[in-house]
Amino acid sequence: MIPRRTWPALSAALLGGLVAVGVAQQDFSKVEIKTERLADDVWVLYGSGGNIGLCSGPDGALLVDDQFAPLSPKILAAVKAANDAPLRWVVNTHWHGDHVGGNEAMAAAGATLIAHDRVRQRMIEGQDNKTFNRKVDPAPAKALPLITFNDSTTLHVNGEDAVAFHVAPAHTDGDVIVWFPKANVVHMGDTFFSATYPIIDLESGGSIDGLIAASARVLARIGDATRVIPGHGTVSDKAGLQRYHDMLVGVRAAVAKLVKQKKSLDDVVAAKPTAAWDETWGKGYMKPDLFTRILYTELSAKKL
Ligand SMILES: [Zn+2]
Repeated sequence: MIPRRTWPALSAALLGGLVAVGVAQQDFSKVEIKTERLADDVWVLYGSGGNIGLCSGPDGALLVDDQFAPLSPKILAAVKAANDAPLRWVVNTHWHGDHVGGNEAMAAAGATLIAHDRVRQRMIEGQDNKTFNRKVDPAPAKALPLITFNDSTTLHVNGEDAVAFHVAPAHTDGDVIVWFPKANVVHMGDTFFSATYPIIDLESGGSIDGLIAASARVLARIGDATRVIPGHGTVSDKAGLQRYHDMLVGVRAAVAKLVKQKKSLDDVVAAKPTAAWDETWGKGYMKPDLFTRILYTELSAKKL
């Protein structure tokens, strides 16, 4: 049994006034799925929500994540256009709706859904996430992963030995990274945002220390030619992942220093500890003040 951490300090009052992750209002009819080939048998699909990985060949098509349900017909068309093989598997990198939203449609199209144990459990439970002002209903049975694992699993498909491996809680507590050794491509899910501060979903068990560890673990096994698919942002490489890792280490140290001085949340935010990184990383959904608040919330609850 994995202990479920709770964050009493992370209340709506503390992080009040945040914008909602406004998926409900989004007009998906305008979204185009753009496909980019990264290797003989591996593609990335950009649309709305988390980036999708595709490995397609003689054994069939394997998707890594499937964005939002309304996009499923477009995603299936893009999968077919890339390489006309039947869809057989989806691996979810974590349980967020912009990564599992198409699960039900993909299963109906013939895919077996595969994910970490915690993804299935969190989808069954649903969540009222105060930080991001997002209520997630329990998922229908047909959207749930049928095959789950707690450490890693290997898919021997299309000449690949694709390894889906769990990392210690980072973006959430059910994160999985998918490594395609032959194609030399890795899909990092939301443990990697290639151009912005990442979201750390503390209420789903996420942790800055896990994000740092996950990026270090991937950096240790990839080379300069490896294509690195982030959960959000364009495809990157080892150097890009290294810059992200260094940023995470830097901002963590800057916030931890103030937490150790027993500064209040408001004082830490006012001190702008992320300032040196904001120009490069602070212009996405995760704004500097919010990122600082989340780091403070986690670090002030730890023994530093
Ligand atoms: Zn996510």
